[in-house]
Amino acid sequence: IPVDQFDLVIFGGTGDLARRKILPGLFRRFLSGQMPEGARVIGAARSDLDDAGFRDMIGQAIEEFGGEETADKDRLAAFLECIHYVAVDATGEGGWAQLKDLIRENVVRAFYFSVAPSLFGALAERLHGHGIADRNSRLVVEKPFGRDLETAKALNATLAEHFQEDQIYRIDHYLGKETVQNLMAVRFGNILFEPLWNNHYVDHIQITVAETVGVGGRGGYYDKSGAMRDMVQNHLMQLLCLIAMEAPNQFEADAVRDEKLKVIRALQPVDFHHIVRGQYDARGDEPSYREDVENPRSHTECFVALKCQIANMRWSGVPFYLRTGKKLKGRTSEIAVVFKDLGHSIFEGDEKRHRNILAIRLQPNEGIDLQVTIKEPGPGGMRLIDVPLDMTFADALGDDVDEATDAYERLIMDVIRGNQTLFMRGDEVEAAWAWTDPIIEGWQTRNDVPKHYDIGSTGPEDAMMLLHRDGRRWREIK
Ligand code: NAD
Repeated sequence: IPVDQFDLVIFGGTGDLARRKILPGLFRRFLSGQMPEGARVIGAARSDLDDAGFRDMIGQAIEEFGGEETADKDRLAAFLECIHYVAVDATGEGGWAQLKDLIRENVVRAFYFSVAPSLFGALAERLHGHGIADRNSRLVVEKPFGRDLETAKALNATLAEHFQEDQIYRIDHYLGKETVQNLMAVRFGNILFEPLWNNHYVDHIQITVAETVGVGGRGGYYDKSGAMRDMVQNHLMQLLCLIAMEAPNQFEADAVRDEKLKVIRALQPVDFHHIVRGQYDARGDEPSYREDVENPRSHTECFVALKCQIANMRWSGVPFYLRTGKKLKGRTSEIAVVFKDLGHSIFEGDEKRHRNILAIRLQPNEGIDLQVTIKEPGPGGMRLIDVPLDMTFADALGDDVDEATDAYERLIMDVIRGNQTLFMRGDEVEAAWAWTDPIIEGWQTRNDVPKHYDIGSTGPEDAMMLLHRDGRRWREIK
């Protein structure tokens, strides 16, 4: 179903994110028929290009990053016809009059700030000053949304000078993933899970986002940020909220976001003994983290594992273990709800601990599986084994599974529809910083040095111990 007619202006249209994610994603929406005929995408950036030059650039980007389904040259040519370019200076006056001429009345106007946050204020001011944005316009902003509570508040205040909260779409692309949305469907659309979703039945919860890549070409930026700011404060925190929140009374943006906010506010401060930071060592020709970021004295973490607790009736006493890191053994993102052991086994000789685990996989093979205990098939008597009831979406749904839809394109379509459910509200972002700030400040005041770990491992030894001490173990990173 096509969305409403729109003009989408991408500030930073020539940048890495626009070329790798935003425009290839929009092309897939065009191919699927969701982008209405006549919709326009306008690149706005510093480079001195015209429409033809920008179309060339985007055509090449789509060929490089668009994936197999975008190989149709005729359709690509048709899509590129919808694309325009205006050279603008965010901090000067050049280009704004041309942009105003290009923008249409009576269509959804959305402005995507895919530029450094230091430009947000200047852009917002000029959009209003030139009468390009109005009360109905929408604004999309990228991470990082601040680097601590103070800067996040300042950014929120800057945007609030020109836009209302219901116009601001703060992107966290983890929330655009199919499985993340399915997590809510599974939790709140079935009678099976919700009665067990509490400290009577759940032993603990694990959230893992493991990457095999290092810091890539963005070492300088990353070293000023680190895994806590780059991953935990936003992505892992959002996943934690969805797993832990109370049921909203309806699936509506503010109802969902109110419940997520309550979770963040109920998070207890983390005990420093319950956090492990790490940096990877060199392996053969592969440089160490410190070599990658060209900072031999760096104390920034590219791995973090921690144990936290939510102080409310539902979760009191249930640990939430979070871990994320670079250059690990595998690329695994999952949330696992590990249920408690049965108090008593009626099966003689069955000494193994059997537990039900609901694992929500974001990658690879997006899907959900439930580990259940059954009888081992065959004549060997009542021997029990644990097997997964696997719901890999690609297997279960066959051709209906829409694997090509990337989180970005899904979220951009939500912006055009005016649906903020999967976007972070300003108060959520601030609450998340309020929880992470003392952790980061604590590292600085203690001059904490990250532990070492091997490339291709599961992180520092101490991260294993974090769970071993509690008689638990991390799930495997595959
Ligand atoms: P980039 O450096 O590749 O591109 C920056 C863009 O901003 C260019 O198009 C440039 O022309 C434009 N620009 C810079 N100064 C300008 C000015 N004064 N006036 C007008 N345009 C100007 O950056 P990127 O990697 O595409 O990232 C863009 C934003 O998205 C950043 O805030 C980044 O943190 C965020 N982000 C990027 C990624 C990613 O994978 N690249 C992922 C998540 C978030």
